[in-house]
Amino acid sequence: MEKHPFVEFLNHFVPQVARKFKQLNQAMWILETTGSDDAADLKGSLDAEYRFLFNDAATYKQLQQWEKELTDPLLKRQADILVRTFKPNQISKKILEEMAQKEATLAQSYGNFRPELDGKKVSENDIRDILKNENNVARRKKAWEASKEIGRELAPQILALVKLRNDSAKNLGYSDYFQMQLDLQEVDAPWLLKTLDDLSQKSDKAYASALDEIENSLSHRFGVKKEELGPWAWTEPFSQEDPLDTRELDALVSGVDLSKAGLDFYRRMGIDVKPILDRSDMYERPGKNQHAFCIHIDREGDVRTLNNVKESIKWLETVLHELGHAIYELGFEKNLPWLLKEPPHMIPTEGMALIAGRQAYLSEPLKNLVNSPQKELLQKAEKSLKRRQLIFSRWVLVMTAFESELYRNPDQNLNALWWRLVEKYQKIKAPAHREHQFDWATKYHIGLAPVYYFSYLLGEMFASAIQEALAKECGASALATEKAGQFLQKRLFSPGNRMSWSELVKHVTGHPLTPDAWIKEFS
Ligand SMILES: [Zn+2]
Repeated sequence: MEKHPFVEFLNHFVPQVARKFKQLNQAMWILETTGSDDAADLKGSLDAEYRFLFNDAATYKQLQQWEKELTDPLLKRQADILVRTFKPNQISKKILEEMAQKEATLAQSYGNFRPELDGKKVSENDIRDILKNENNVARRKKAWEASKEIGRELAPQILALVKLRNDSAKNLGYSDYFQMQLDLQEVDAPWLLKTLDDLSQKSDKAYASALDEIENSLSHRFGVKKEELGPWAWTEPFSQEDPLDTRELDALVSGVDLSKAGLDFYRRMGIDVKPILDRSDMYERPGKNQHAFCIHIDREGDVRTLNNVKESIKWLETVLHELGHAIYELGFEKNLPWLLKEPPHMIPTEGMALIAGRQAYLSEPLKNLVNSPQKELLQKAEKSLKRRQLIFSRWVLVMTAFESELYRNPDQNLNALWWRLVEKYQKIKAPAHREHQFDWATKYHIGLAPVYYFSYLLGEMFASAIQEALAKECGASALATEKAGQFLQKRLFSPGNRMSWSELVKHVTGHPLTPDAWIKEFS
C-alpha cells in the first residue's frame, strides 16, 4: 500500500514540534523554579516560535483536506488535532502579536499590583491572612475591599483583550471567543450550559444547607446577624473555599512527611512515584512560583511536579493531586504517536488528579495517609470535603455563566451582571455601592486563563463517575489498591489522545458524562 502523504508530513513535521515543545517546557521549568528575567525572555520567544509552527495557511488547508479523506483512525485523529491547533493561529501575525503583548502586560500588572490598606501596601497573602484570622468585621470589610482595588486597573486591559479575542473568533466564523474556545476543545456549548444547570438545580438544597451551616458559624464567630455578614466573612476574597474547620484539620498532618505519604499512597496502587518525586521541586524558595503544577517536559517520561509543601491538609491534597497528573502522563501506551501522547482535554487528567486529592479528606484513606486515629477530626475532614465540593461548584457556575455573557456582550454593565450571578448561584448578597466597581476583573482567570474554569467542575463530575466505576469494577470504593491502579492505567491513561475526552469518559465509566455520580456523592 502506498503511503499517504500525511504520513510523510508527520515524519517531517512532528520532530520539529517535539524539539520546540521540549525547549519551551525546559525554559518554563527554569522560569517557574527561579523567576529569573532571562528565563522569562527565553520562554516568551520560544512560546512565539512554538505557536508560529502552526501558523502556515497552506498547511492548514492541506491538513483539513487530509483530515476529510483519511480513514485510518489514528492518522485521522492526528490530523484532527493538528487542524484544531492550527485553526486559532490562522489570524494575522499582527493580531497574534498584539494579543501576546497585551496578555504579557496584563500578567505583569496582575503580578505587580499591591493595594493599600491603612496606608500600607499589602500582598494577596496579607489579605488572606486577615480574612483567615481577623474577627473585627470592619477590618475584614476593609481588607476585602482592598482585594478588589486591582479590578479598576485591570478592567480596561481585560476588555481590550476580550475585544481582540472576539475579533479573532469572528474572523474564523464564530459568534464569539467563548463559542470558539469550546469548539476547539471539543465541548458542545449547549450541552455544557445544560449540564451545569442540571447540576446546579440538583444540588441547590444541599448547597443551601451547607451555606446555612457556614453562615450560622460565621455569624456566631463575628457576633453579627447573618444578614450583615457580607462576602468579607469568608476566608478568601471570592467565597470559593470552605471557611470552616480549616486550621483544626491542619493538626492532622502535623509532623507528617507529605512526600512520603504520597509515595506510600501510590505504592498501594502499585505505582512507583519515586522517580517523579526525585525530579520534582517540593519546597518554598524565594522567586519560585507559589502555586503547584505538573509538567511533562518531553513526552518521553521526564515528568515533574512543582509544590510549595507546608504542613497543611491543603498541601497533602495538592501533593496527591499533582502526582495524579504525573502518573496519568506516564501511563500513555508506549507506542502511541507523539501527537497522541497527551490527555484529550484537561477534564480527564483533572478527574484523576481530583480523585487522588480527595483522599486527603476521606476518613479511611486519610487515616492511612497521616497515620492518625483521631476519629472526630477525620470525620470533620470528610464533612469539609462535602462543603468544599458544594461551595466550589457554585463558584464555577458563576465563572462560567459570567464568561459566556462577557464574550456575548462585553458592553453591558459587567459588575451588575457579576453580582447578579453571585446572588443567583452563591446566594451571597451584593454589598451596597458596588455598581461602579470592577469586582469581575479581579479574578486571575477572567483575563489570563479564559474559557477554562468549567473544566474543573467537569473534572469533579468525572472524578465521582470514576469512583463509581472503580467501586463496581474493583469491588471497593478505595482508590489505593493495585486493582484500581491497573484499571485506571488500562482504561484511563493508556489511550492518550486517541479519542475525544467525551469518548474517553464513556470508555472508562461506560456512560457519557453527567452530574449524577457527583450529586450522589456530595448532595
Ligand atoms: Zn490539576
